[in-house]
Amino acid sequence: MLESQLFLCYNKFIMIKNVRRNGYLSLCYHYIRPEKKLNLFPKILGNKIDEFHKHIRLLKKNYSIISPDDAWRFSYTDFSLNSKNGLLFTFDDGLSDHYKAAQILADYNIKAFFFIPTCVLMDKLPANPTIIHYCVAAHGLDEFLNTYRNALEKYKINFGEYDIKTGCPKEKIPIIKSIFKYKLKHKISRKILLYIYKNLFFKSHPNALEIMHLNREQVNNILKMGHSIGVHSHSHISIAANNLTTREFQKEVVEPKKYLEKTFNTSVIALSYPFGRKRDCLSPEELTKRTNEYQLAFTVEPVLNTKNTSPFNLGRYIPTSADNEIKLKKILKEISNGIYKK
Ligand SMILES: [Zn+2]
Repeated sequence: MLESQLFLCYNKFIMIKNVRRNGYLSLCYHYIRPEKKLNLFPKILGNKIDEFHKHIRLLKKNYSIISPDDAWRFSYTDFSLNSKNGLLFTFDDGLSDHYKAAQILADYNIKAFFFIPTCVLMDKLPANPTIIHYCVAAHGLDEFLNTYRNALEKYKINFGEYDIKTGCPKEKIPIIKSIFKYKLKHKISRKILLYIYKNLFFKSHPNALEIMHLNREQVNNILKMGHSIGVHSHSHISIAANNLTTREFQKEVVEPKKYLEKTFNTSVIALSYPFGRKRDCLSPEELTKRTNEYQLAFTVEPVLNTKNTSPFNLGRYIPTSADNEIKLKKILKEISNGIYKK
């Protein structure tokens, strides 16, 4: 190859690299668990606090940390990220662990999005997946399944079709999740989960909600720290998979935004789709056809958000409990380069 051809190839490579780099990655955290001796529910999987610190230090070094406002500016103005990829922190489910996480981030001068299912504040009831996590962690899988069967019986639901008998816990958990997410209609699913919650975790822990979720005062303080809040539906249902009626869509997607804005005197511009996979998310066209209340919507598709990404289809990566900072660094690099395989 001639030197001039090599030079052209190199320039092209740099150009491709620059196009790729003009974007941001976003992380979607859930549980941030305390150290061993303070962790009352060691069976709940999540990132440990000391690991979270390591993540932050690594990310600060390798990325340009962006705020929720920057994410909005990236989608709607000519604000760009040329020297380093951006990185946005987000937290789903309004978990009590997020209060500490918000304080840690504030100490590092980082602003994040906290997405809250409004049932935890409006109804003082936990979100659907949080019920499964805490009931199984505190009472074990067998007791969870026994109570589940009692609920099916009480509500006269065809037992056989929804029974979970075979398999080890590792096999049963995904089946349970899938039944509650997709197989049962969302109203029945909610009814059964609330029955399980009231008969298990709430019975054994009268301060259950406080253990599981953020309260109003904590959300207020999170806002005072400079963070932003967003909607994560009302009761944490799959928005796209449930084919919601207009009334249900209002209750799960539109009213939560109005409630958060009024209660906390703040503007709410972002939605994070519960579960966040393709089948759980509306397309940008479908969302904007049903409501114009939002300016940003986040999925959990692990992709780099570029100037070409729709603001209603923003990708995020969920760090798992196995992602130490070395693994996380590798995964994020692969996502940036478009070569990450789930
Ligand atoms: Zn969620």
